[in-house]
Amino acid sequence: MSAVLDIDRSGERSRGRLALNPNPQRKYWFDPPAPRSGLEAERRHRQERLAGAFRLFARFGFAQGLAGHITARDPELTDHFWVNPLGVHFSRIKVSDLLLVNAAGETVVGERPLNKAAFAIHAAIHEHDPQVIAAAHTHSTYGKAWSTLGRKLDTLTQDGCVFHDDHALFDDFTGMVVDESEGLRIARALGGRKGAILKNHGILSAGPSVEAAAWWYIALDNACHTQLLAEAAGTPQAIDDAVARHTHQQIGGPEGALHAFESLYEGLVEAEPELLD
Ligand SMILES: [Zn+2]
Repeated sequence: MSAVLDIDRSGERSRGRLALNPNPQRKYWFDPPAPRSGLEAERRHRQERLAGAFRLFARFGFAQGLAGHITARDPELTDHFWVNPLGVHFSRIKVSDLLLVNAAGETVVGERPLNKAAFAIHAAIHEHDPQVIAAAHTHSTYGKAWSTLGRKLDTLTQDGCVFHDDHALFDDFTGMVVDESEGLRIARALGGRKGAILKNHGILSAGPSVEAAAWWYIALDNACHTQLLAEAAGTPQAIDDAVARHTHQQIGGPEGALHAFESLYEGLVEAEPELLD
């Protein structure tokens, strides 16, 4: 006798010891996230994801000496941003380590030194585009290697469609960015897109949440890695523009990036709960 599906006398659906949903459903997306109540809760949310983003970047191998910064706009003091202190390895950053920096480059929370380039680049990006809640920039290997070619990425894969017509090239390397005017030129080049290739320097991402900016950085580095591999092996064939645009509309939004980030963040917090200290 087939044991595929039995309806027992109580009417419950079961298959052996497997409990099945009483009302099977087609569910292809997440429930909406619970709204955060108030500025304090929003600030804490951003701080926790920011500290987590650094640790995830460390796991991806994106830490490189003193380089690299991710910032999150403060929800109340909206011309201030939270950022990592100089010289603390990404893998060790906790919420309590984060600095709060004002529009003049002064640290108003925290005692450790601030990376001058973090202020020069990120202050301009946050000021130039109020939609940017977070921005990420490090010297990850594949992004840095790709940046030396001085061109934007081709759209080679489904994942790469996220950046189709949605990343910029900043082709004007003049040394370490310590001048706010250069930060402004980077912000203008970014121009509301989700990523930028900084020639001879590395890559950068920006987005409407910490989760989106962090995930898009990971995805942009992966897109650089993928194209480097493909070009080393042969002549990659790009996706047709219309298909790439369609796919960008399907998967290029910040919601997917948020859930991709959260899938990493949940395991991180479980393994390294001190990041929330
Ligand atoms: Zn840099």
